[in-house]
This record gives sequence, C-alpha cells and structure tokens, in this order.
Amino acid sequence: MFAQSAGFSTALDIPTLLFVATAIAVLLGLFLIFAWLQERSMRALAWWGTAYLIGGSSMALWSAPASLLPVPAEIPGALIFVACGMIWNGVRLFHGRRILPLAALAGAILWLIACQMPLFADQESSRIVLGAIIASVYAFFTACELWRERRKSFYSRSAAIVVPLLHAAIFLMPFVLQAFSPQARGSMFAGGWFGLFVLETMLYTVGTAFIVLLLVKDYHVHVLKNAASTDHLTGLINRRAFLDGAKSLCAHQARRQQPVTVLMFDLDHFKSINDRFGHAAGDDVLRLFANIARANMRASDLIGRIGGEEFAAIVPGALELAEKIAERIRVNFEAAAIQLAGRPIGGSVSIGMACSPDPVADIHALLARADAALYRAKKNGRNRICAADEMSPPSSAERLIAAARAGNAAHGLAGDVGARPPRTAVLHRNSWSAT
Ligand code: GH3
Ligand code: MG
Ligand code: MG
Repeated sequence: MFAQSAGFSTALDIPTLLFVATAIAVLLGLFLIFAWLQERSMRALAWWGTAYLIGGSSMALWSAPASLLPVPAEIPGALIFVACGMIWNGVRLFHGRRILPLAALAGAILWLIACQMPLFADQESSRIVLGAIIASVYAFFTACELWRERRKSFYSRSAAIVVPLLHAAIFLMPFVLQAFSPQARGSMFAGGWFGLFVLETMLYTVGTAFIVLLLVKDYHVHVLKNAASTDHLTGLINRRAFLDGAKSLCAHQARRQQPVTVLMFDLDHFKSINDRFGHAAGDDVLRLFANIARANMRASDLIGRIGGEEFAAIVPGALELAEKIAERIRVNFEAAAIQLAGRPIGGSVSIGMACSPDPVADIHALLARADAALYRAKKNGRNRICAADEMSPPSSAERLIAAARAGNAAHGLAGDVGARPPRTAVLHRNSWSAT
C-alpha cells in the first residue's frame, strides 16, 4: 500500500487504497443488507447497506480506467454524496424520524451543477474544496442526529458521534491549515492530501459500520429492558420497575429534604366483575383504571401495576398533594366504570396512602404503611381513601401485612401479629358506602 518514496505526499499508493476502500465498502454493504433481510422491520439497515454499496461502486468507478468504464468525471463524486446523504437519513430513520429525500440528494445535485461551472470544471482544487465541504456537512448532520438521541437516553451515542465529527474535522483540516499558512496554497492538494482523504474515508466506512452495530445493540437492549419492566396489559411499569423507580425517587427527595407519599390502589370487588362479565371485561377495567390513573398524575409521579388488580404510585410531595391526586383518580374511575362497552360494571377503587416526613424514606416501610391504610379503606366500606398516621412508624402488623402481600418475607416481623392496629384516617368516601 505504501510506495517506497520519501515524504507523505507520495507515500500513499492511491490505486491500492481505492481498491481496499472499495472492497471494504462493498463487503460491509452486503453485510448490512444481509442483516436487514434477517430483520426486515429495521429499514435503516437497508438504507445503510445500500449507501455502502453506492459508495463502493463510486470508488470502483473512480479507480477503474476510463476506457473500461466510460462515465462522466463528476458521477463518482455525486454517488459518494448520495451515499453520505443516505447514511445520515438511515440514522434519522433508525430513530423514528422522517426521511428527507431531497436533503439526502442535495449534496449530489449541488455537486453535479457546480461541475458544469468553469470555476469547478477547470480547477481540481476548487472541486476538492467543494467535495470536502459537502462530505463534512453530511458527517456533521449525522453527528447531530446521534447527539439528539443521546440526550434522550442511549449512553453509547457519545462514542458514536466521535466518528462522524472526526471525519468532518479531517476533511476540513486542509482548509483550516491553509487559512493559517497561505504559502501552503497550491501544494496542499498534491497527492498527499488526496491519499489521506481516501485513507480516512476507508476508516470512516469501518467506523460507521461500528456505529451501526452499536445502535442496533442499544436498540435491542432498550427493547428487552422495556419488555422486562412493562406490564403488557396496562402499559404501566411492573412491580420490579416500580420498586426501582420508587427507590431512586425516595433518594432524590431525601437529598432535597422533601417528603414523598406512597399510594396503594386496589380495585373493589374485582373478582365479581370477572365472574359477572368475563375475564376480558375484567382486563378492560384494568386498562381503564391504568389510563385514568396515568392521566391524573404528573410527569414527576410514578405509577405501576404491582399485582392482579393492585397498583402503587409514589408522588414527590406531602400527603395533601397526594390526597388531591388520589381523590381525582377515585372519582374519575368511579364515573368511567359505571358502564363500560355497554356493560353495567359499577367499578370503584380503594386507596391507602402513607407519607414520609423523614427525609430518608424507606420505600418498603412506606409501602407497608400505605398497604395497612388500604386495608382499613377496604374494611371501612371500600371506594374511599385512607391515610396512615404521618408520624407513626409502621407497626409490626403493618409490616407483616405488607410483607405477606408482597411475598417478601424479609420485611415481615414474625411473632408480633396484631400488636397494634394500623392507625389510619378516612379522608374520602363515597356517601352510599359510608360505614
Ligand atoms: P376486594 O374488594 O376485597 O379487593 O375484592 P376483590 O374481588 O377485588 O379481590 P380478590 O383478591 O378476591 O380478587 C382479585 C381478582 O383479580 C382475582 C383474580 O382472578 C383477578 N385478576 C388478577 N389478575 C387479573 C388479570 O390480569 N385480569 C383479570 N381479568 N382478572 C385478574
Ligand atoms: Mg387485591
Ligand atoms: Mg380488589
């Protein structure tokens, strides 16, 4: 690959570099197309694969003798910019954004028009400047798409943006150097820089393939994580994800010395709904409750389905605030569940609440107290909200009830059952169910 000559400008054997770059681009293109055939829903793979094949054929046209493949001189460049635009749009597609076909082709169109003008038709250095700028702009757009997504959640995006940014920087470097050292004009476009461009393009091709693998791996991890933390019936987070989220919310509130309130929900006489209207109707009621609860909570609150017809929420704030949220959910659910899809369901929900005035809130202790308050709400006639006494720590009985319900023996204190009844206050109740 490297000729036996002194100096960088003649050290790179351009035909060999072009041949290797072509082979790499075509092989990676075929690999990506093959990956797309395995997973048809990931259309971005087809875009990237096609982009690589177009890039590879452009380099083949470039390096082939004109007598063998007689195409106008500006065509290989135009094909390279189509490939750059497709790689950028592939990233957009992968992140669920719109394809921008005109913008993908704009670089190639600009190139073809410019090549008809005397400034670019007659001067190779002008063409190199234009080509480097177009390639850098597409690389910069690609980096921006990756950066936008990184802010959402995927951590390996920060590594991914380095490759296109370096690509843009290397392509623009000669022009920056020229600005600082005008005497370099004329010599800078000698074979050395061109060789470096080809070498760098080859590395960029491999680098972007590496990014593609990172993106696809991230996507699969994201899908699996989502599936592992989501309750499929209601779309809410499941018990494990709720406990994880609640722990971090408690820690966050503790750092700010602010209280948190836990709410426990249990649909009333749910078994009877199943018995009277069937399991599918019961599922509809669960979905209805989840939608109403979600709609009545703030973005900072967390709600999950923790059991069959049991839900839990954690609200950053004091009991009074959580009480308003709970009452909204209770009233709205009761109104919506009078009748569902023509069936007279008549559903309602009982709610238990517990607030932690202690900044270092223990989520398990809070859940135990909220669960005990829920037990009181059921006992007092259902369709109501009960709050645990703010200042009292959970009794042994409360802990035992919660541990039994959670199936978590670690939180139960054996041998102390019924030592003290849970202290709760009835805050809201439906008039017809008052006891
Ligand atoms: P209470 O007012 O005391 O809470 O009575 P309940 O009938 O709501 O409570 P119970 O624990 O006796 O019954 C809960 C029922 O929830 C029993 C179970 O079949 C039903 N269930 C649990 N998970 C699902 C589900 O995913 N879909 C449906 N349709 N029913 C479920
Ligand atoms: Mg229950
Ligand atoms: Mg129930």
